[in-house]
Amino acid sequence: SAQDVSEMVRANARIEHLAFHDGLTDLPNRRFFSKHLESALQEVAENQGRLAVVYIDIDNFKSINDRFGHESGDELLIAFGQHLHNVKRPDEFIARIGGDEFAALISDSDDMKIESAINRLMCNLQGQYQTSYGEFEVTLSIGVSLHPQDNGDSEVLLRHADQAMYQAKESGRSRIEFFDTGKHHSQRSTLQLLQEL
Ligand code: GH3
Ligand code: MG
Repeated sequence: SAQDVSEMVRANARIEHLAFHDGLTDLPNRRFFSKHLESALQEVAENQGRLAVVYIDIDNFKSINDRFGHESGDELLIAFGQHLHNVKRPDEFIARIGGDEFAALISDSDDMKIESAINRLMCNLQGQYQTSYGEFEVTLSIGVSLHPQDNGDSEVLLRHADQAMYQAKESGRSRIEFFDTGKHHSQRSTLQLLQEL
């Protein structure tokens, strides 16, 4: 019947939604983010645009779970995701990658605008978050990879943003680090040197 068909259509839409969204925050998930990044890369190839893959990881998130329980951590992740959704520009794409790691895809015509968009995200997102367990002060470590500078496909850009984020952690947290192509090469040549020995 027509009712059966429309129920099936709704069920399919629900399954499709679950496959591409995160269950806790309802933001796009990693799969959706990387799919979106792939089509964005194709688009900018035509108009010489620029892209930034921005990895955002909450600092010392585990201590909130440890002190107030997993539920409090969940509440903070939901509040953070909601806030990220509220502060993003309409043309920016955001996702929860997993755990306390989120991502944003920024596209713009020049590097200055991209950099100020990243700074705006950092300024807007660090600060106090209200939960039923109290107010939590959040700082962030942000890692960025850039297209076309970092020269790679979507997988490479994601990996480089993640590496830059770890660099931000190592450098003391609450900061933004850009993936350093030079560092990458020198690490590789050290490895090559070791292999030659
Ligand atoms: P760092 O400053 O280095 O980022 O340390 P961190 O304490 O934030 O820990 P890290 O980012 O390495 O790991 C995130 C932790 O978040 C791991 C896990 O215990 C916790 N976690 C992952 N997913 C969830 C979730 O859905 N809910 C809650 N409450 N905790 C989660
Ligand atoms: Mg963390």
